[in-house]
Amino acid sequence: VNRSDVHYFGAGPAPLPTTVLENAAQVLLNYQDKGIGLCEISHRSPEANAILAEAKGALVTLLDIPDDYDVLFLQSGGTGEFSATVYNLVAIWVEKKRAKIAEEVGDDEAEVLKRLRKVVDEELKLDYLVTGSWSLKASQEASRLVGAKHVNVAVDARTANNGKFGSIPAETEWTLTPRTSGGGPALVYFCDNETVDGVEFPSFPQSLEGDDAPLVCADMSSNFISRKVDVRKYAVIFGGAQKNIGSTGIAIAIIRKSLLPPASKPASPDLLRALNLSVGPIVLDYPTIAKNNSLYNTLPIFDVWVAGQVMSSLVNSYGAKRIGGQEDISNEKARLIYDTLDKYSSVYRVVPAKSARSRMNICFRVHGGDADKEKAFLAGAEKLGLLGLKGHRSVGGIRASNYNAVSVEGAQKLVTYLEDYAKTA
Ligand code: PLP
Repeated sequence: VNRSDVHYFGAGPAPLPTTVLENAAQVLLNYQDKGIGLCEISHRSPEANAILAEAKGALVTLLDIPDDYDVLFLQSGGTGEFSATVYNLVAIWVEKKRAKIAEEVGDDEAEVLKRLRKVVDEELKLDYLVTGSWSLKASQEASRLVGAKHVNVAVDARTANNGKFGSIPAETEWTLTPRTSGGGPALVYFCDNETVDGVEFPSFPQSLEGDDAPLVCADMSSNFISRKVDVRKYAVIFGGAQKNIGSTGIAIAIIRKSLLPPASKPASPDLLRALNLSVGPIVLDYPTIAKNNSLYNTLPIFDVWVAGQVMSSLVNSYGAKRIGGQEDISNEKARLIYDTLDKYSSVYRVVPAKSARSRMNICFRVHGGDADKEKAFLAGAEKLGLLGLKGHRSVGGIRASNYNAVSVEGAQKLVTYLEDYAKTA
């Protein structure tokens, strides 16, 4: 089967542009005519540094990332960032509290510790907006790391939807930890696009804006570089590369510099231990990774190269429109598919509520979820080279992942199949 005969709608890892892969085959063998390939050279070489700089520069250009943000490359995967956000932001919260208590109490370290223990015990809260399987997992990881009593699930979208994900409840129903100047939650976390459930935040939540806005962490693993983002609203944005950006092996974090030294100091490991809070592994420590330009330990430079190629080609394609150019295409592809599903609503049912539909992962049922009919639908698609359409094992059904490398032609082919199937069904 030829690559060109197939359109792949898998949820991740996801397709990459063919030209990038063709060049990748070459650089794996012989990078810049050095007689050695990209997986074989040092991550500290000038070549590796140039690759890192290009990838960073392209992302900064695409998303218009302001100077007061840093871009980090990590091997953590999206899942590792569930933990990294907790470790890093809890350590900052604790140190702020310690400094405030020390101002009141002076040098009496035992007294500072005593009061700090009480503050941590009573006030440490991490807010999670649980709108799908990935934010649920992130909240569970936070509970595992800091204890469930410190995790405030400000909203669980299943509550108002028969125990199922598929909507984003109104912000008036969220129970966020009250913000105070110098207080409030250590972080507010949400997953911008829920890959399994097909739910995407249409825009940045209003209740996380304004005076004394909390530190917002967002998982953009499955909608990274697919639309404009006002980076300034976030403390941390992160995502695994393997859907819209590149090959599996790296995650990217965009972090506000005021959360890094010298502007911010996290609590020391000794203090965290004294408070019975866990100390994170060094490879998830944002200050360490930032200080070392993402090269504290061996970074898979080949994966950074792939990401850099993908992002630079978007910069070149869209010019001044930057990621807005990709956003137009992503929206158009999603519109084509959803319009067809809605048109044939006697055959198809889109799972999530209209207001929360993801542009990236389009989840629907065929004939009310009839197992045999969905199997036949998938088999028919495969015959036409439309692959990877099976829904996540935890929810079943059909999922068309509409990442950047899915072409408009691919989306149109899927639309034609949806129409033909509906007409004969
Ligand atoms: N977050 C989201 C939204 C995802 O879709 C995924 C994986 O599909 C993850 C996190 C986990 O990423 P990883 O497998 O890189 O740990």
